[in-house]
Amino acid sequence: MTAPLTTAEVIAVGSELLGSTRLDTNSLFISDQLRRLGIELKGKSVVGDDRVRLGDVLGDALRRADLVVLTGGLGPTDDDLTREAVGDVLGLELSEDPAITAGIRQRFERRGLPMPEVNRRQAMVHRGARSLPNPHGSAPGILIATGGKLVVLLPGPPRELQPMLAALCAEGGAIAEHAGRERLYTVLLFTTGLSESRVEELVQPIYSTWRDGTEPISTTILATPGQVEIHLTMRSSDDAHAKERLERSRAQLAAALGDCVFATDGRSLPQVVGDVLRERHLTFAAAESCTGGLLLQRMTDVAGSSDYVTGGVIAYSNELKIQLLGVDSSLLDTHGAVSEAAAAAMVDGIRERTGADVCVSITGVAGPGGGSEAKPVGTVVIGVRVPGHPLSVQTHRFPGGREMVRLQSSQMALDRVRRMLG
Ligand code: ATP
Repeated sequence: MTAPLTTAEVIAVGSELLGSTRLDTNSLFISDQLRRLGIELKGKSVVGDDRVRLGDVLGDALRRADLVVLTGGLGPTDDDLTREAVGDVLGLELSEDPAITAGIRQRFERRGLPMPEVNRRQAMVHRGARSLPNPHGSAPGILIATGGKLVVLLPGPPRELQPMLAALCAEGGAIAEHAGRERLYTVLLFTTGLSESRVEELVQPIYSTWRDGTEPISTTILATPGQVEIHLTMRSSDDAHAKERLERSRAQLAAALGDCVFATDGRSLPQVVGDVLRERHLTFAAAESCTGGLLLQRMTDVAGSSDYVTGGVIAYSNELKIQLLGVDSSLLDTHGAVSEAAAAAMVDGIRERTGADVCVSITGVAGPGGGSEAKPVGTVVIGVRVPGHPLSVQTHRFPGGREMVRLQSSQMALDRVRRMLG
C-alpha cells in the first residue's frame, strides 16, 4: 500500500441488527477510533446474514473507500457468512489455519470443554490475509490488503471488537501505519434559545466562505430540543495551525451568535450553569411540576453537583403545591396551576423552604391531554429567582410532544438561570 488511508466505510453484518431489538453501536466506536487517525467514515451499512447482498454492499464500499471494516458474522454457525462473502468479492480462497484451530481448542479446554467441530470455521483465513488475535472471544479478526485498500473483519460483540480495533489504531497497529500524517480536527459551539434555521441564517454567510480552498472547513449543524450545536471540522497535518484556524473560525461564529452561545468546550448546559454556581458559591433548588424532576435530574447528572444543588420538590398535584410549597389554594382556584401567579408562588415556596440562593419553578401542560384554548399543550411557565435580580416569571409555548415539551422546559429554565447569572 502506498497512498495513506483517508476514507472508510463500515458494514455491520447481522440480521438481528435489521430488527427492532438490536442497534449497531460498533460503527460509533469505529468512527471515533478512525477519526483520531484522520480517517473519515464516509458511510455505513447494515446487512442481514445474506452472502450475496453482503457481497454487493462490500463491492460498492470498496469502490468508494480506502478502508472497509466489517463487523459480525464471524461466528461458527451456518448463518455467519462474512468470511465467505469477503472471499467471493476479493476472489480469495479460504483455508484453515491450524495454529488458530489449536488456539480455539485450547480456549475450550481451559473451560473443561471439548471444541465443537463447527468452531473450525472460525480458523478459516483468506489466502495472504493476516489473522488478528481476539483475547476476549473465539473468533479471530482478519486483515486483508487488496489493491491499495484495507479490508478488516472483526467479531460483532463490542467487548471483543473494541480492544481489537483499538490495537489496530494504536501506534504501530496496521491501520495506524497506513493512516498518513493528516488528522481531523473538530471544534464545537453549543447554542440555546435559537431555532436551527435561525442559527443557519446567522452563520451560513460566514461558514460558506470556508468550504473551498486547500484547507476547507466543514460545518455541521445539529439540532436537539432546546439546543443547536455547530461542529467545525478540518483536515491538516499541522497541529498548531489547525487549532489556531479552527479557534479563529469558531470565534467568528460565536460573535455572530452572541449570548445564545453557552459553551465552546463541549460542556452541557447543566454543567455550564453548575460551574457558575460553584464559582460564585451559590446554591440551587427547584420546584417542578410538569417536568417531574427532569431539571434536577439533569443538574445532578453532573458529577460534583452536590457542591451547589440542595434539592427540590416535585409537586405534581395542587394538593402538594399547597402542602409542600405553601402555594395559596385560592391562588390556584383563581389563576390555575399553570399560571404566572402559581409559578411565582412555587419559586418563593421552594426558596423559603430550602434557603437556596438560586431557585427555579416550572409548571406547564406537557400534553398530550390537559390543554385548553387559553393554555394549549406546550404552555409552560418558568419562575426564576437569582440574587440581585427581581423575580422573573415568563410564559413559554413549546412545540412538540410530551417529551420535547419537558426537555425544552428544563433547557429554558437552565438558560434563564445562566443569563441571569451573567
Ligand atoms: P460470535 O463469535 O460471538 O458469534 P460474530 O462475529 O459472529 O461473533 P455476531 O454473531 O454477528 O458476531 O454478533 C454477536 C453479538 O454481538 C450480537 O448478538 C450483538 O449483541 C453484538 N453485535 C453484533 N454486531 C453488532 C454491532 N454492529 N453493534 C453492536 N453490537 C453488535
